[in-house]
Amino acid sequence: MEKCPYCGKELTEDERYCFHCENDLSKFVDKEEKPKCFIATAAYGSPFVKEVEILRNFRDEKLKNNFFGLWFINLYYKLSPPIAKIIEKNNFLKKIVRKTLTPVVKLILKNK
Ligand SMILES: [Zn+2]
Repeated sequence: MEKCPYCGKELTEDERYCFHCENDLSKFVDKEEKPKCFIATAAYGSPFVKEVEILRNFRDEKLKNNFFGLWFINLYYKLSPPIAKIIEKNNFLKKIVRKTLTPVVKLILKNK
């Protein structure tokens, strides 16, 4: 966050308190923190949706344990923020990504 949403004055990075107008900014800062599962979060509109949680857990628990998984995670972290930004703004893409992820979620649940 570069400017205080209350008074519009410049802030240093990651400031959680505005020294100009004395407002608490933590909720804005927290909101800007990047969600962990960018693409799924963008597609489902929230990091707290059940599907997003399932995908995130799967990534953290299973993928980390093998070479291909690690490679995929690295690639994912490099590629997903810009992709997520595009998805976020496009309802059609959101729908496609959700459609793609739904069977993945089902598969993960089946293999548990
Ligand atoms: Zn302020």
